[in-house]
Amino acid sequence: MPKKYHLHAKATPLDLDFIFKFKIVRGENCINCGRCTKVCIYEAHKRRKNDPRKMADPNTVVCRNCFRCIQECPRGALEKSLSKEFLNSGGAYWKPDMLISLWKQAEDGKVPVTGAGYRGRFTGPGFDSMWTDMSEIVRPTRDGIHGREYISTGVELGRKLNHLVFDANGRLQSKVFDTIDIPLPIIFDIPAENLSANVKTALIEAAAEISTCIVMPAANIGPDLAKYSANIIPYITLKEIDQYQAVLGKARLVAIEYDAAMLGDLPRIQAKLKKAGKALTIIRVPAVKEVETIVSKLAHNGAEIIHVVGDYRGTEVGGAAGSNPRLLKDIIRAVHLRLVDERIRDEVTLMISGGVAMAEHVPKAMLCGADLTAIDLPLLVAIGARLYENPEKLLVLPEGLDKIPVPIVRQRIVNLMVAWHSQLLEVMGAMGIREARRLRGETGRAIFFEEIDNDTFGKLFKKGEAARV
Ligand code: SF4
Ligand code: SF4
Repeated sequence: MPKKYHLHAKATPLDLDFIFKFKIVRGENCINCGRCTKVCIYEAHKRRKNDPRKMADPNTVVCRNCFRCIQECPRGALEKSLSKEFLNSGGAYWKPDMLISLWKQAEDGKVPVTGAGYRGRFTGPGFDSMWTDMSEIVRPTRDGIHGREYISTGVELGRKLNHLVFDANGRLQSKVFDTIDIPLPIIFDIPAENLSANVKTALIEAAAEISTCIVMPAANIGPDLAKYSANIIPYITLKEIDQYQAVLGKARLVAIEYDAAMLGDLPRIQAKLKKAGKALTIIRVPAVKEVETIVSKLAHNGAEIIHVVGDYRGTEVGGAAGSNPRLLKDIIRAVHLRLVDERIRDEVTLMISGGVAMAEHVPKAMLCGADLTAIDLPLLVAIGARLYENPEKLLVLPEGLDKIPVPIVRQRIVNLMVAWHSQLLEVMGAMGIREARRLRGETGRAIFFEEIDNDTFGKLFKKGEAARV
């Protein structure tokens, strides 16, 4: 049995103001009796340091929403309300609750649990409009996720053979391609350009610690990062191949921006890349309208790994204003099925990014047909970045982030991945799937809202006008 892949979480609070769902307010009718200081085990209520006769403002940061202080205050002086900051953050896709969940996972690496029961909607945009079939709850649940049964979350990247050819003497004739194994179906995607040096270092170190990789512009990879070359994926354009030969020569994987020239000339381009070193090539293709055709042609031309890059809200990119863009989950399904129909799906690795906001989006993307996912925004939310969707995408990095020591930033990113890994194990265990690669394209193990909505109400309404529940 192979050694278990295990990640280590460590409580790592970050002393930066993040958004909080509720705000506790102490009313003027407080009589400073101090009862709330005794009932709150999280010490959200304290007396003022300079005048202990009076209560200080409640510390919302440590509040865990148990409501005990509110129930026990003899004057009904405490009030909890949804904070305006919370309501204004995120947007329709990156819901404020998601941002808080990522922040908390980065704090302790634990799977998020809500004790008060779930009272929200059971469907949402993108990956949230599908559910995984967890009807085969088996051993991992009984034994815990690190129980007796081994569940592999590892995936293999690279070109694979459709079949093997042997000669009359049983000797292998086929040339087997090089592949790369990573223990988690997640890589870190190109981080925002304006990240401080400590954050960049922490992202690279975190990628190395969990044995995954991070995509970075080749221009940002200096000799000081040579020791991380197994974990850094240089990102280049077609024109930059000659310029970054030294960096490419050390890498295991190289990401290259899609160029229409690749449709006719991919073998020559790949040969040029292989002259620099042995790195496998990832072609980054934007999730445009005709992406299935592009991916199909690249796969037939010998592409090793194709990365379909969607919008940050998990939709098609490059559509006309006002058009109804396709959802990435539907794009992945279409790309996957096109390759299956053309009998070439097993030969190429398909990676996706865009809208992967929560741990469960990883297995969902794989069920739709991806081999693995790439993430960027969750990593930044984990270290305090605030995301706003309206009126347009805005990512605000917290003040003082550049002064936080690298080990703290790194551990928060590792913690986030610990939580996501644990959730992936839980989902796979509950689905009775022992190997992550077997999730790929298993749409029969998923339930799609649009499909059951149509099955249930489609006959009552005209096509395309099924009711929303
Ligand atoms: S329990 Fe109520 S009245 Fe007493 S100190 Fe706390 S808020 Fe004030
Ligand atoms: S709601 Fe609970 S955790 Fe929050 S301040 Fe009151 S007693 Fe403390």
